[in-house]
Amino acid sequence: MTFATLGLIEPLLRALETLGYQTPTPVQAQAIPAVLAGRDLMAAAQTGTGKTAGFAVPLLQLLTMEGPKVAANSARALILCPTRELAEQVHASVAEYAQNLPLTTYAVYGGVSINPQMMKLRKGVDILVATPGRLIDLFRQNALKLNQLQTLVLDEADRMLDLGFSEELANIYRMLPKKRQTLLFSATFSDEIRTLAGQMLNDPLSIEVSPRNVAANTVKQWVVPVDKKRKPELFVHLMRKGRWKQVLVFAKTRNGVDALVDKLQGLGINADGIHGDKPQATRQRALDRFKSSEVQILVATDVAARGLDIEDLPLVVNFDLPIVAEDYIHRIGRTGRAGNTGEAISLVCADEVNMLSAIEMLTRQTLTRKMEPDFEPEHRVPDTDASGQVVKKPKKPKKPKASGGGGKRNLGKWVDSGDVAPAEPSIKPVRKVPVFNTGPRKKK
Ligand code: AMP
Repeated sequence: MTFATLGLIEPLLRALETLGYQTPTPVQAQAIPAVLAGRDLMAAAQTGTGKTAGFAVPLLQLLTMEGPKVAANSARALILCPTRELAEQVHASVAEYAQNLPLTTYAVYGGVSINPQMMKLRKGVDILVATPGRLIDLFRQNALKLNQLQTLVLDEADRMLDLGFSEELANIYRMLPKKRQTLLFSATFSDEIRTLAGQMLNDPLSIEVSPRNVAANTVKQWVVPVDKKRKPELFVHLMRKGRWKQVLVFAKTRNGVDALVDKLQGLGINADGIHGDKPQATRQRALDRFKSSEVQILVATDVAARGLDIEDLPLVVNFDLPIVAEDYIHRIGRTGRAGNTGEAISLVCADEVNMLSAIEMLTRQTLTRKMEPDFEPEHRVPDTDASGQVVKKPKKPKKPKASGGGGKRNLGKWVDSGDVAPAEPSIKPVRKVPVFNTGPRKKK
């Protein structure tokens, strides 16, 4: 299959060719014809599957072929994203896809001054990428009207709800014209997302390009059990041993990010951190420097790192496991993107066993454990498996104290705690979702 066979117009085909996209990814192959046909979409697509082009490319085509010129202070299409970084990134992709089209694009988000955004909106923009809070601010200040809106895209809808945007989404929903096309993308589908979809979508096509809640199988994942207090030391040890060049590291809290960055910088390691407390410009600069390999280690909280697309990122390290198991899928989705292979290593201490168990249950696999010589934990991480059970073993006789002679123990060996579940088929056919109550909304 080629992009041409999907019915795309020549300026878009040229842009995709310039970007080196030769064949549509599975989500693109399914989403592009559906969006061009005017359908609402509910798409379960993992990060890194090419979902941005999956919605943006056909959207650009519809905006080029149909509808009136954009009016002052208006937008014809709105793409809602959970974070500022993702909004910037989606906007950059949209602008690349639109490079040969006479359409205007712009991104608005909080954390920066609203005035330039208001000025920019005066003439109207064809495609507006926005985070929910700033969009509402602009709307309330009359800088933006939504009566010309043809299409709404909810990108990473699950994350928007995780970040507490459900009230904002409900407000935005009330601001929208009833007659519109709506495309909802989400890596995972909770009941809450299905309810949102039921309210916002009209007779949607459901697309699922990967088994639900299963992490990309291009990512080799394993766990290194370790005592909590030794995590920084283990991280530095693994980094030196593996000669890691570019690593995205996830820590649970803002303080955790700062502490690890300080520690690494203190050792002369080229590290930087991003989290929600840092000003937007600082976050963007750290990210840009990481992307261009000026920074070797980027430590981030989940909020700051969500949706980032870093080309050929080889390795993600979970310095702490995420509290929400679904975040594990998003985190490791930063590597192994667009068919590349990647690695994801989690440093897990005994306190985190329930989180590990939740992740294994969600991803339906038991993660391989690899003990690192001289870092075997004193506080053993109980065995877990994909059933969600923390396996309680009869207490072993006391271990000999780790005093010298470490080389004699079972060091450096892979200790499997179970088998990885067999991969499921990666593409499911487009099918209609009969279950949604689309409420009183009129058919288009
Ligand atoms: P996304 O899932 O939209 O964040 O895309 C992940 C990465 O895949 C981005 O770097 C895209 O530029 C790239 N990509 C998207 N579609 C294609 C394609 N058809 N061929 C090659 N690369 C692609």
